Amino acid sequence: MKIDLQNKRVLVTGGNSGLGAAMARAFADAGARVAINYLVGPEETDAIVGEIEAAGGEAIGLLADISDPAAVGAMFARVDDAWGGIDVLVNNAGIDGARALGWEAEAEAWGKVIDVNLKGTYLCARQALKRMVPQGSGVVLNTSSVHEVIAWTGYSAYTASKAGLAMMAKSLAQEAAPFGVRVLNIAPGAIRTPINRTVWGDPQDYRDLLAKIPLGRMGEPEDIARMAVVLASDTAAYMTGTTVFVDGGMTTYPAFAHGG
Ligand code: BGC
Repeated sequence: MKIDLQNKRVLVTGGNSGLGAAMARAFADAGARVAINYLVGPEETDAIVGEIEAAGGEAIGLLADISDPAAVGAMFARVDDAWGGIDVLVNNAGIDGARALGWEAEAEAWGKVIDVNLKGTYLCARQALKRMVPQGSGVVLNTSSVHEVIAWTGYSAYTASKAGLAMMAKSLAQEAAPFGVRVLNIAPGAIRTPINRTVWGDPQDYRDLLAKIPLGRMGEPEDIARMAVVLASDTAAYMTGTTVFVDGGMTTYPAFAHGG
């Protein structure tokens, strides 16, 4: 089986670091043209664009705050100008937010996580679907998390945002399906990226984390990127409105390997 996304027009939000960077590279590797959205880190963006171009591919970097509707609109207009439309949106940009118990968190900080992870993802999906529905094809793939279904002390905004993505994907998928457009979530477990460096950088926290992963290792960004390419391709043509967990078994709740 060959996965070919030749010339497909792909936008990856937060595409210059962590999972987004790995996904941008994987889509380019599958033949797609890749627009890399970023908010910070123009140098990282330029480096990935340069890397893709050096390999014979096509890429552009696009600065935009995804929680700002006007900036999102302008970003999609730039993709239209470059390539005349969009085939795949990888709605990946997101933040964990600072760890704080719910009753101690600042309302503004709590809201910021929702603004980026949930509203920002919606704003990008909205612009993508405006284009995909009339064209009768396209895929919106949102980066969710195991915390779509696993509670996490100190991260009530983050878990709420990811649980929100589950129902948002289902509703948008139902709306877009008659037009041949698919909407999916990919839910990574603990993947080795800058977002959780403090955990894998500390020996005790790292041991504690590995105990939560039945397959016995953290995921690498490529574990997610490979699946993202599959889900955006016609190999997954019959999938929509669901979340695909890519988590080394984290959602099996490994504490239940013993006792009960
Ligand atoms: C978070 C990571 C965390 C992982 C597993 C992800 O959604 O962004 O920081 O390591 O979930 O808990």
